[in-house]
Amino acid sequence: MDELIARLLSDARGRAFELHRSFVNPGFVDLLQLAGYGRTFVRASGVELFDESGASYLDFCSGYGVLNLGYNPPAVKAALREVLEADLPGFAQVDCPTLEGLAAQALCRTLPSGLDRVFFCCTGTEAVEAALKLARASTRRSRLIGCEGAYHGLTLGSLALNGNAAMRAPFEPLTPGAARIPFDDERALERELSRRDVAAFVVEPIQGEGGCVVPRAGYLRAARELCDRYGTLLVVDEVQTGLGRTGSLFSFEREAIVPDAVCLAKALSGGLVPVGAMVARGTVHARAYGTTATQGLHGTTFGGGPMAMAAVLATLKVVQEEQLAQAAADLGRHLKDRLQELARRHPIIREVRGHGLMLALEFQDASRGWLEKTPLSRLSGATAALFVQHVALQLMNEHRIVAQSAVNAPAVLKVMPPLIVRREQCDRFVDALDKVLEGAGHGSAIAKLALEALKVKAGR
Ligand code: PLP
Repeated sequence: MDELIARLLSDARGRAFELHRSFVNPGFVDLLQLAGYGRTFVRASGVELFDESGASYLDFCSGYGVLNLGYNPPAVKAALREVLEADLPGFAQVDCPTLEGLAAQALCRTLPSGLDRVFFCCTGTEAVEAALKLARASTRRSRLIGCEGAYHGLTLGSLALNGNAAMRAPFEPLTPGAARIPFDDERALERELSRRDVAAFVVEPIQGEGGCVVPRAGYLRAARELCDRYGTLLVVDEVQTGLGRTGSLFSFEREAIVPDAVCLAKALSGGLVPVGAMVARGTVHARAYGTTATQGLHGTTFGGGPMAMAAVLATLKVVQEEQLAQAAADLGRHLKDRLQELARRHPIIREVRGHGLMLALEFQDASRGWLEKTPLSRLSGATAALFVQHVALQLMNEHRIVAQSAVNAPAVLKVMPPLIVRREQCDRFVDALDKVLEGAGHGSAIAKLALEALKVKAGR
């Protein structure tokens, strides 16, 4: 078995797209190729990706928030190697794994007191599902409220709170009793909660896939007060914002509130092992699962496995020792200042927003002028999104920088480097973006992209 993976990878060199087209998701392969993403990355370290020719790329996407520590962080790798060598009894299911207890303790120590029961799972959406079930079981209410623009994952419960109708439509009907209200709207929230039948209000402190939307100061505090007044659990989804990304360890700290449950995943295990966590108030947890009869009402086979727990412990240590939240705050300020300066020179940028190293640029629909004179006007509404894809592609092809749009807001380019990024790498990103925007006026590349999109739409 020696070198099995190395040999398999070497034998498959150049065939990754073909393998995915045949055995994984051909539509995704089409999309990547249509958009001009023909590369296979073969190695990654820190902030850099390397393609088959050895060329290096700066990553300003971070796997949508997974890679706060950068790719393959040495401390997490070392912890994983140790676990493999220790022959630990993972998944025996009839004991209390020590590493899981230690990881839960370490996680609770990073959170406000009161948040002291951890449910480990493997993904963000599972962490959200766990919070939804906790809310129903502990309140004995059924309704669940989320926000327009929100993204909490794609399993049926989380999807019911997804703020993008197109993502929900093919799977309706979703969880009964789930509804969405406008984000950052206290009145709409009170209208729903005052019916006193809402189990949970689920909210992102900054909407990630909604386009890095920052609510007004005071919104989370108001949500906390309303939830207290009407007996609803406040569930804060920190899957993307957590672990230092927005300049504090958790983004809800900006408003000094204590949620009833916090959902985490993505960066929690240093980008190497899938892990999710739902951390709840002990009092709430006790109401739902506090007896021997109810303790097993929620669970998952792989939750709390040794590899994931070791990765969590190592990740939390790195985040704290290297003060990555502070680094995100400091570098984020520099990067945002520079992006704002760019926006003053390029009016096609409508807004620069975000906190820490969770930043984004929203673009105007400025390409519409030339587009309307062409058959491409049939793609109306998609022009800003196409423009963002054009910018992302130019960044990749001309400047070797990876950046992507938000899932529920394709006119928004997210700027999310790993938190270990250096100041000069941030400057390189801004300078590259400056050049791309300078060259973008003619729209020729967008036209090409849009024409291809039309061909696909027409089934050609
Ligand atoms: N919650 C938020 C805020 C997210 O951004 C995401 C994923 O992007 C999720 C939940 C779902 O996480 P996962 O894809 O691990 O299920």
